[in-house]
Amino acid sequence: MRRTGRHFLQIPGPTNVPDRVLQAIGRPTIDHRGPDLPVLAGETVEGLRSVFNTKGPVLTYPGSATGGWEAALVNSLSPGDRVLMFDQGYFSATWEKVGLRLGLQVHLVPGDWRRAVDPNVVESMLREDTKHQYKAVLVVHNETSTGVTNRIADIRQAMDSASHPALLMVDSVSSLGSIEYLHDDWDVDVTIAGSQKGMMMPPGLCFHAVSEKALAASESARLPRSYWDWNAMLSLNETGFHPYTPATNLLYGLKEALSLLAEEGLDHVYARHARHGEATRRAVEGWGLEIFCSCREERSNTVTAVMMPDGMSADEFRAVILERFDMSLGSGLGKLRGKVFRIGHLGDFNDLMLAGTLAGVELGLMAGGIPHKKDGVRAALDFLAETSA
Ligand SMILES: *Cc1c(COP(=O)(O)O)cnc(C)c1O
Repeated sequence: MRRTGRHFLQIPGPTNVPDRVLQAIGRPTIDHRGPDLPVLAGETVEGLRSVFNTKGPVLTYPGSATGGWEAALVNSLSPGDRVLMFDQGYFSATWEKVGLRLGLQVHLVPGDWRRAVDPNVVESMLREDTKHQYKAVLVVHNETSTGVTNRIADIRQAMDSASHPALLMVDSVSSLGSIEYLHDDWDVDVTIAGSQKGMMMPPGLCFHAVSEKALAASESARLPRSYWDWNAMLSLNETGFHPYTPATNLLYGLKEALSLLAEEGLDHVYARHARHGEATRRAVEGWGLEIFCSCREERSNTVTAVMMPDGMSADEFRAVILERFDMSLGSGLGKLRGKVFRIGHLGDFNDLMLAGTLAGVELGLMAGGIPHKKDGVRAALDFLAETSA
């Protein structure tokens, strides 16, 4: 049967792509060695710098964020290097696997996935490492699988307090362009991001912001690298040309997405996400369901993971919502499979889209026979009516 109206794409990425971005991508493809490319590339570099809050080099690769993880590691580390990571959720676990396959020694600090990384643990681990064997600390800023946000400034502070020289690498895939991110102020060495979450683009691009210290480390790094090599890619910052064919039409879309963020103003973008995050959390509490992130202050403003009542399948619940109400919600990943569903509230999003999303969840609770209280949507609407972005 034909579906009428718009599908609600409320997974935490890929997110809803604005029409202006889609139209920009639909322009005629250009000669990637011709005069238009450096202009386009230059504009996207400037825009990305403002979103990363950096004055340093930024790079755009055709590839998914998983490639961005690999690129960060191969450019700055050598075989057998020790790196410090935290068991935060599915994405940190997947980044760990990339590191292991590349031949790094990963020390994974255990965690229950429900809390952010404790900066005190970072500090004490690094203080104990008197021989400075850890070459890098790898953190996911916003763990999309759990809805937990880390305090990168505090983690940097912990590294400085321990006077440890390890590089700080941060995955900002589901926070960049939604939650405040300060690459320079937080002294991050490599930030990895992707196009399909807060950046309001289709999948297909990943980005790096890189510090001088990381560039210096890349000179002696010995992991093999070719496609991802920073040196070749950095020419983009200088000449505007890529070492291979860039995703030209996606660059048109990126330029438009960056304009949209600039027109709204980043402060407003962050405040909007904070407000929608709060409204979503109030809805979950109004339903009497449990938010997976167990600490109020660490709850994400881009995604909320909600625990299903015992014995009920989150996947069956999501299937009911897709079938009956044409809305996609995020699934539980890794050990959370079937146990949580995730509501994405990021990207090109407004109050009525959020109200529709939350109404879809409440309808699903009703249609799926899930025990709940009827105060969820009402609590969110009250909050949206009382506040403005
Ligand atoms: C989506 C996501 C990734 C993986 O991105 P791909 O584009 O699928 O490779 C990595 N990290 C985080 C935090 C994510 O949300």
